[in-house]
Amino acid sequence: MAAVVPQNDFVHPDSPSVWDAKGRPVLPGFIDAHMHPISMGLKKLRLDLSQIQSLKELLEVVHNSASLLPRPSSRFLIGYDWDESLFADEHRYPTRWDLDKVAPDLPIALRRIDGHLWVVNTKGLQLLNLPEDHPFVFKTEGQPNGLLADEAIRFLEPFIEPKLDEKREALSIASQIALEHGVTTLADLYADLEVYESLVKDDGLEIRFVCCVPPATAQQLKAPLGWNIAKERCEAKFVKLFLDGSIGAHTAAMREPYADMPDETGRLLLRDRTAEGLMLEFNDMGWRLAVHAIGDLAIDQAIEAFRFVRMEGKSFLRHRLEHIEVLQPEHIGWMKRLNLVASMQPNFVARWQQEGRLYQIRLGWERAKRMNPFGSILRAGVPLAFGSDGMPFGPIYGIVGALTHPEPSEQISLRQALLAYTQGAAFACSIENQVGTIASGKLADLVVLSHLPDEQAFADEWQSVKVVATFAGGEMKFFQDK
Ligand SMILES: [Zn+2]
Repeated sequence: MAAVVPQNDFVHPDSPSVWDAKGRPVLPGFIDAHMHPISMGLKKLRLDLSQIQSLKELLEVVHNSASLLPRPSSRFLIGYDWDESLFADEHRYPTRWDLDKVAPDLPIALRRIDGHLWVVNTKGLQLLNLPEDHPFVFKTEGQPNGLLADEAIRFLEPFIEPKLDEKREALSIASQIALEHGVTTLADLYADLEVYESLVKDDGLEIRFVCCVPPATAQQLKAPLGWNIAKERCEAKFVKLFLDGSIGAHTAAMREPYADMPDETGRLLLRDRTAEGLMLEFNDMGWRLAVHAIGDLAIDQAIEAFRFVRMEGKSFLRHRLEHIEVLQPEHIGWMKRLNLVASMQPNFVARWQQEGRLYQIRLGWERAKRMNPFGSILRAGVPLAFGSDGMPFGPIYGIVGALTHPEPSEQISLRQALLAYTQGAAFACSIENQVGTIASGKLADLVVLSHLPDEQAFADEWQSVKVVATFAGGEMKFFQDK
């Protein structure tokens, strides 16, 4: 951005390269601080079955997709997220015999929405080399019916792991989806660095990415990569560490048991000593940490480990905590003292933290309504960044969650929510000197919205807010005139 000037001082240059936003709101390009772009793209690349309403329709979709593919082929046609509870004709799982009827000559594998069950056709089963008897290879009248659950899924995995070119394509699809939502930077919170290395080499990244790599990658690389968000459009200076699981799966580590499973408190994935040791090691190698902690027990562990790193470390970098949904007041004080960034997902509030929804069922309303305390975080002066974790993707929907928090004192203003999805997310990704605000000298990543309802109207009218144009590096990458 060469200059930012007040409207009255602006002299309209007479040039064909001038684009007039015509009074519509222009914001810094949104930055999603926590995403999984390759999985988002893969779902589009493979078959998305999540909206299918009958077994008949499922088989038609499979037939149509299969008919487009070359033969013979040992490459699986892969589909995601069928849900037989939505089927209007027959409430049952599809079997290999169903799939054989529409595509007998091509291997097919379709995943159920929960990820714990796959159905494979006969051609596919022949490639898998399954054991004669396995408790998770399901049978009908003594014959494998094509359904593979949990522990049997590993026989399928080598055949469905995407190849590099497929992952590259997935990332390009994710970039397009991002631009449609006005997002110009995505943080990939478990980045497969091979994909980014190959795209950086080919100058193939269409938007910017911040890679948080798995611990093994960081250990292998030793120091962060010397990439720059302006030049390579990608940086890799964060490492991701998981301390617990999720509330949905009862695996987030809680101080108190789950309301709907009184013997369960979830579990910590690392011993305290291991967490401290790893975090110190990465900090001293120059990696910034992005630590996944959802339950209050996991957040306790994260805070203790960061205190240890600050005492023992060579220096103390700016690190971040991911999700921190069951955050307690004392955690917030420690986050402030340790300069930790809160990386949170307001869309989870919109989706699950409302009365009668998942979080109330898991934790009871007293605990659930106090989760994700955005207001307290901002009042304490802890930096707040927003992301979606892809559930679902899209800043505008996420912002609704921040404005409609069930605990009024934890609601934040529209301006604060927009800041968390721009400036705050840039700060969390340590790229705030280049992106996240509109100022001269910054990279020209911008989004133009159709309009911006005020705070009171936003929750009711958000669906009418359209992205009109998205610019990345000064180039218009998306435009929709409607
Ligand atoms: Zn995630």
